[in-house]
Amino acid sequence: MDRESLKKLQSERLVRIVKHAYDNVPFYKKKMDDMGLKPSDIKSIDDISKLPFTVKTDLRENYPDGLFAVDRSEIIRLHASSGTTGKPIVAGYTAHDVENWKEGVARCLTAYGASKEDTIQISYGYGLFTGGLGAHDGATKIGATVLPTSSGNTAKQIMLMQDLECTGLCCTPSYALFLAEEIEKEGVKDKIKLKFGAFGAEPWTENMRKELESKLGIKAYDIYGLTEVSGPGVGGECECQDGTHLWEDMFFPEIIDPVTLKPLPEGQEGELVFTTLDKWGMPMLRYRTRDLTHLTYEKCKCGRTMVRMGRILGRSDDMLIVRGVNVFPSQVESVILEIPEFQGQYFITVDRINNVDTFQIDVELREEFYSDNIEDMTRYKAQLAARLISVIGIKPDLRIVAPNSIERSMGKAKHVLDKRKL
Ligand code: ADP
Ligand code: ZN
Repeated sequence: MDRESLKKLQSERLVRIVKHAYDNVPFYKKKMDDMGLKPSDIKSIDDISKLPFTVKTDLRENYPDGLFAVDRSEIIRLHASSGTTGKPIVAGYTAHDVENWKEGVARCLTAYGASKEDTIQISYGYGLFTGGLGAHDGATKIGATVLPTSSGNTAKQIMLMQDLECTGLCCTPSYALFLAEEIEKEGVKDKIKLKFGAFGAEPWTENMRKELESKLGIKAYDIYGLTEVSGPGVGGECECQDGTHLWEDMFFPEIIDPVTLKPLPEGQEGELVFTTLDKWGMPMLRYRTRDLTHLTYEKCKCGRTMVRMGRILGRSDDMLIVRGVNVFPSQVESVILEIPEFQGQYFITVDRINNVDTFQIDVELREEFYSDNIEDMTRYKAQLAARLISVIGIKPDLRIVAPNSIERSMGKAKHVLDKRKL
């Protein structure tokens, strides 16, 4: 669709969904009334910045279904995001919402080159987490053969992957790395028929892409999404691997300055905000994702006209401030993977001792490089430390731990322990 027609569609949909939210969700009505804003003030997509923001605590405060905009009988699916502290976030979907969700994932898979000829192994967790069922529905929509392994039981995953000749893999990048390590250990790489991977649900880097592509012999593509807005498949990469297309006929993105809350110009890094233009069960108006990235509207070489998002550095709440310096775990990942002797696994521990921040990073060498030769170990450590200092700007306390001793993740990896917050 050319951008002009897209804008027209977005405008029509925005007007409709704002009215729906205002008429059916007391929370939105109150917010808009307080601002003196009426649904009729929203005439086109250009008026979007008049609308109030919605944040995660709004969902928590309206737990479980205070933001639902339809009668409960119209809701055909409920999901809940992990919510490590306190109440989880609950999302409700109408039949139409689930169709749109499937459509988003189907577009991603199609852009990766997948079709009904593929057998897709879905190793995202099935259940309340949107990853498993979301990927499942999208893969079913394109007629692919689905192998719903869910997460866990890695040995069985690898056996089925070989025996059923899976060509696609959907999971978190950290689980893909773990699978790749195990495949290497078992020496079965040549029995793996994978062609592509759809990786998301957590931040990952270009260096991780290279690592996964070479270890698994695949093309590794990004898939992005979040429960509040829908689930996986809010956007995905195309064959160009040059940014994640966001399906903006359904999920309208903006980038704002997280401090001033003002929209930022194209290309500038800021907080991603979504308005769901065609979601009826739980419409979201200007939902602040806390994900930091940038957008480009330049037409992609693939021909798709929809906006592209850059890699997500992390959520603003993933950012560590260590000795006054901002650090994202994804930067650490990227540097570690630059040095071939190191495995991509790491764990950061931050503490404050005698008023000084400590910044410990546990890393693993690949098995063939790990030894009790102190000289060698010191050399590897110095090399990595120098690179980390130049990229991040602070000196880490590096510890080389035994191979396979850092806990592997089956889903979203936990890379940080900030003892200052305990
Ligand atoms: P939870 O909030 O419990 O983690 P979600 O599964 O809804 O539940 O998580 C969505 C979040 O996961 C996004 O807001 C984003 O921070 C992260 N995420 C999802 N996909 C990607 C991706 N492709 N790249 C980077 N981060 C991602
Ligand atoms: Zn493209």
